[in-house]
Amino acid sequence: MGSGVWVYIDHFKGNGLAASWEAISVAKSVASQLDTSVTVLVFGHQTDELVSEVATYVSDTIIVCDDHTMEDFRIEPYGALAAKLYQNYKPHIILLPATTRGRDLSAFLSIDLGVAVVADCTDVNIEEGCTQVTRPVYAGKLNARISLDNLHPQIISLRPRAFPKVGECDGMAEIIEVEPVMTESDIMVKVLDYTAADYDVSLVDANIVVSGGRGVGGPDGFDPVRELASVLGASVGASRAAVDSGWIPYDHQVGQTGKTVSPDLYIACGISGAIQHQAGMRTSKIIVAINKDVEAPIMKLAHYGVVADLFDFLPIFTAELKSRFEK
Ligand SMILES: Cc1cc2nc3c(=O)[nH]c(=O)nc-3n(C[C@H](O)[C@H](O)[C@H](O)COP(=O)(O)OP(=O)(O)OC[C@H]3O[C@@H](n4cnc5c(N)ncnc54)[C@H](O)[C@@H]3O)c2cc1C
Repeated sequence: MGSGVWVYIDHFKGNGLAASWEAISVAKSVASQLDTSVTVLVFGHQTDELVSEVATYVSDTIIVCDDHTMEDFRIEPYGALAAKLYQNYKPHIILLPATTRGRDLSAFLSIDLGVAVVADCTDVNIEEGCTQVTRPVYAGKLNARISLDNLHPQIISLRPRAFPKVGECDGMAEIIEVEPVMTESDIMVKVLDYTAADYDVSLVDANIVVSGGRGVGGPDGFDPVRELASVLGASVGASRAAVDSGWIPYDHQVGQTGKTVSPDLYIACGISGAIQHQAGMRTSKIIVAINKDVEAPIMKLAHYGVVADLFDFLPIFTAELKSRFEK
């Protein structure tokens, strides 16, 4: 069995995702419990700034692959390099943020190394030398505690916003530069372009999410939802009923077949709170439901319930917040 805890840094164009800094905090905690070291993997192109940022958090080792073939996340070169590095160093634990790219890479490693991934964990600890993780199951109704006794390596993806961000540290990390293992001509996937989504804040990273459901009644019904979101600096979410009706794009869907969010504040407007919707938002710190029906299931989950017509309540609420923020 190898030793050491690895963390994969997910970033876009050199901007590290918050979930990556959370993953480093987990790695440091686990490594200190196992009395082993933390190694951070940074793949990309022109990564100097990102590596400097990582170095403020980690004083052990940073493995860097800085190459034009690694500019965009593509599973072939990223996966091939991560698998080769694993074979060279054999770490005990590999942590990845459960972001889209982190999930891709964990799945690749699972197949390549022939081990299971423990996905979307919300807690990781060491008990008597054995890794214990917690992950939501059955659409978030239960938390499974899993012991990873005989798994080598232990590939664990971490739910964004379930862990604190790592604090800065003293010390100089050793930087190991490595070459990519694939050349551009071997890589079948070519990234041509990126198109910006029509929202400013990523749902998954948002501190506040304001969501609308079938109760908004149509595409225009999202206007008061968006206005509240804009005053709060929040991201706009939606139930599947609203998405399936074509009122808002799928990117906004929260739930079992949409995004999983865990913001500090989740405001559900005209959403009944079906189990599949709850699967994507029930770990939110504070949940507010605005619904005409006091019997709607969301009311049982909500910390604060407002029994009202959203079209009456939202304009007054938004105006009140606006005037308070302006003071
Ligand atoms: C396999 C599977 C996967 C699924 N995945 C997802 C998923 O990822 N995400 C998801 O959301 N759903 C998902 N669903 C669908 C889910 O079961 C529900 O059908 C859906 O969440 C309902 O959306 P809703 O709450 O907006 O609509 P409804 O259940 O119709 O609720 C609308 C609510 O709005 C209230 N309301 C109406 N008018 C007003 C008003 N003017 N003011 C205030 N309140 C009002 C009503 O009282 C009601 O509670 C999935 C279903 C299946 C089978």
